[in-house]
Amino acid sequence: MQTQSNDLPTTLERIGAHSHIRGLGLDDNLEPVASSQGMIGQLKARKAAAIIIKMVQQFKIAGRAILIAGPPSSGKTAVAMAMAQSLGADVPFTSIAGSEVFSLEMSKTEALTQAFRRSIGVRIKEESQIIQGEIVEIQIDRSLTGATKTGKLTIKTTDMETVYDLGNKMIDSLNRQKVTAGDVITIDKSSGKISKLGRSFTRSRDYDAIGPDTKFVQCPEGELQKRNLVEHTVSLHEIDVINSRTQGFLALFSGDTGEIKPELREQINSKLSEWREEGKASIVPGVLFIDEVHMLDIECFSYLNRALESELAPLVIMASNRGYARIRGTKYTSPHGIPTDLLDRLLIISTKPYERDEIFQIVQLRAQEEDVTLSQDAMSLLESIGAECGLRYALNLIAPAQLCAKRRKSVEEVVDPEDLQKAFSYFMNDKRSVDFLREQGQLLMFNDNIGAEPMSL
Ligand code: ATP
Repeated sequence: MQTQSNDLPTTLERIGAHSHIRGLGLDDNLEPVASSQGMIGQLKARKAAAIIIKMVQQFKIAGRAILIAGPPSSGKTAVAMAMAQSLGADVPFTSIAGSEVFSLEMSKTEALTQAFRRSIGVRIKEESQIIQGEIVEIQIDRSLTGATKTGKLTIKTTDMETVYDLGNKMIDSLNRQKVTAGDVITIDKSSGKISKLGRSFTRSRDYDAIGPDTKFVQCPEGELQKRNLVEHTVSLHEIDVINSRTQGFLALFSGDTGEIKPELREQINSKLSEWREEGKASIVPGVLFIDEVHMLDIECFSYLNRALESELAPLVIMASNRGYARIRGTKYTSPHGIPTDLLDRLLIISTKPYERDEIFQIVQLRAQEEDVTLSQDAMSLLESIGAECGLRYALNLIAPAQLCAKRRKSVEEVVDPEDLQKAFSYFMNDKRSVDFLREQGQLLMFNDNIGAEPMSL
């Protein structure tokens, strides 16, 4: 057996379809810039998205839902991803595809409830007592056998100095952190956890204790004992799972959370409102993105109608590329396959097909992201392919064309039009695939198109 160990990649780096997007690309007045943060064009949709972001930040989103509607590969998911990036890491963002709610393990409404609660963050405030100061001296006395240790820790601020008795556990954790005189540390009084903040400036001439990454800090001022406010943000779903007796917190790692009892959720909701009244916790409403929303059925839509009215509802962003379509689970059609009562409450953002120069710029961005060098002619050819056969198809050709260029031993692996032509001939786009079916369909199995309305491309 032949192995080609030389060709094996040493690291595996996955480049997602939207990894080039870093935000909505807005200026200080919230106006979209033609090309910024990986976003190109689609100015109206981006401006609308910017207004929504502002509303999220001002907590004016309860019961709101947005629909991003437009033709395939017109950037609906890209705009939603950009919104997630603009909101920042602290705001929960959950993304699901409409078809994900259909599973044998849980009901559709349970899957939607979990997605809703994943998108609501709970910021819990905890106050702890800490001792913070610069260590003057650590004195450790070991018993003859070495099994028990006792010691004294002298610690100071600029205003005071105190000696604390040390037990076995504290001595071990000071040793583990290699804490020495001159370090500025924090000790959490309830957990005993020690954190090293750095070395005191006054010890900056102690060359023995200085490494290349030594951080210098001021000796703290005032009292040795202080109150410290810590904030953690967890999602409501995480609180549900941790408190669910049948699942337990380990289910958070496996993702196999199963159904959670409604009574438990009610208990958690009432505990949460108690905490909110006492000022111990606050709610961080996030965003739930449902791609391909037309895949939901009438039961899911009626659930959404009700769930959006709940006090604990996130901002729901849906996306669909369907025109008039059948509402799943009924015989009726409606715009985007969404019942009109739900459509009625949606703010609709539309995306339009790209102009050629915008396709050119998106291709350029993606080639950079995938680390592929395209010649000027190859770029122009990809622009034409994008305009004729769709943006996504053009973007999908970049990686195979690079492989063709590599095999041809092109200088510096530059992709030329001939590589693109090869990739184009190997992989069909949807329109060519339909032509193939028209000509050769009878050779394929179960070629049953009698009476069915073909989907338009
Ligand atoms: P579909 O309806 O088929 O799901 P879509 O409208 O969600 O399509 P996207 O998946 O967002 O389309 O876009 C296709 C590709 O083009 C993605 O890689 C996306 O990141 C990129 N893209 C789309 N619009 C832009 C844009 N305005 N700026 C930068 N990249 C874009």
